[in-house]
Amino acid sequence: MGSVPLMRAMRVHAPGKPLALDEVPVPKPGAGQVLVKVLACGVCRTDLHVADGDLTDCRYPVIPGHEIVGRVEQRGKRFAAGARVGIPWLGWTCGECEYCSSGRENLCSRARFTGYHLDGGFAEYALADERFCLALPEGYGDAEAAPLLCAGLIGYRSNAMAGEGKRLGLYGFGAAAHVLAQVARTQGREVYAFTRPGDAGAQAFAKRLGAAWAGGSDELPPEALDAAILFAPVGALVPRALHAVKPGGCVVCGGIHMSDIPSFPYALLWGERRVLSVANLTRADGKAFLDLAATTPIRTEVKAYPLEHANEALADLRDGRLEGAAVLVP
Ligand SMILES: [Zn+2]
Ligand SMILES: [Zn+2]
Repeated sequence: MGSVPLMRAMRVHAPGKPLALDEVPVPKPGAGQVLVKVLACGVCRTDLHVADGDLTDCRYPVIPGHEIVGRVEQRGKRFAAGARVGIPWLGWTCGECEYCSSGRENLCSRARFTGYHLDGGFAEYALADERFCLALPEGYGDAEAAPLLCAGLIGYRSNAMAGEGKRLGLYGFGAAAHVLAQVARTQGREVYAFTRPGDAGAQAFAKRLGAAWAGGSDELPPEALDAAILFAPVGALVPRALHAVKPGGCVVCGGIHMSDIPSFPYALLWGERRVLSVANLTRADGKAFLDLAATTPIRTEVKAYPLEHANEALADLRDGRLEGAAVLVP
């Protein structure tokens, strides 16, 4: 028997169980795929949902992680060996359905996602379809670039859905909000940051990043908002955010999963307020946001963990102990 090269990977074997450190074969690239050596992989709330079994349609065991910064091991058609690439959440789409053919591949019903349907980056190596890899701007370290790939991107898409208004509320001031706050400020917007009630640390963090106001999610901002984006997976925040948004404004839900939204009086929606969700990303979003990141200096605050400490990183995210983003470094 020839010896198969092995790699370390942190895998979810069953929902609700801690990730296990496994030795598994280094995957072999098929047609159109590149094998990437993982340099850093961000930890996202969606990884928690995969670990907890909040999402349907997950196959186990799976390697989570969809904010992968890596180096191409063997050249593909698009990327040379040694090129630094980003592997995001959107891993594959059908290319032929009504959504794929109208610039909305984020809604493709056959889409496959990294770290969910496809093994992700909580490992030493990862495979990716070259067409879905993103070129990364120079000027960001490996760990610093990782949170751009989901937190940054989803914030960017949410921000576009939120419209052009000046006063923007962000509920949940974690990885996504800390990037978006910096982008919104360069667009001349005022950022209103909402954190867990009493979380003075997170509020101070938001103000350091230029928020005009920071308070608890149970508070109303000093001025009515043009739009609010929810990054916290808490359905009860939807009516609260509607309360903070002025007529004609919108509440954008940026997460993939949320607890139930409690019923609320129609008066909160009245006045042409809107509630909408943001799903996934397109490759065009990826390119547009990373082009922006190349010209707008964004400072990502990251806490690096060794790969084996993935469970600790997930626990810190769950308990709100992070300022910025957690990143695994193999
Ligand atoms: Zn499709
Ligand atoms: Zn994510």
